[in-house]
Amino acid sequence: MAKHLVVVGGGAGGPSAAAEARRHDPSLKITMLEKGEFVSYSA
Ligand SMILES: Cc1cc2nc3c(=O)[nH]c(=O)nc-3n(C[C@H](O)[C@H](O)[C@H](O)COP(=O)(O)OP(=O)(O)OC[C@H]3O[C@@H](n4cnc5c(N)ncnc54)[C@H](O)[C@@H]3O)c2cc1C
Repeated sequence: MAKHLVVVGGGAGGPSAAAEARRHDPSLKITMLEKGEFVSYSA
């Protein structure tokens, strides 16, 4: 069964953590929760 990571917060840290986790495990299911209207973006 695939692992499922839930990231709370879509500011600077949340997407960074999700991206790093994805690099380590491409099969990881990731759900990011953000209470605001926008998530952070950085190239
Ligand atoms: C006035 C100001 C100016 C700054 N200027 C700079 C700058 O020029 N350069 C720089 O590098 N840094 C700057 N910083 C610092 C930078 O903003 C922070 O270091 C960075 O945003 C921290 O990221 P974070 O992901 O830890 O937290 P945050 O960016 O605070 O992200 C947390 C996210 O979690 C969400 N959240 C909270 N609770 C929940 C919940 N229960 N469920 C779902 N979502 C939730 C919030 O809505 C938020 O989007 C500045 C900070 C301030 C206050």
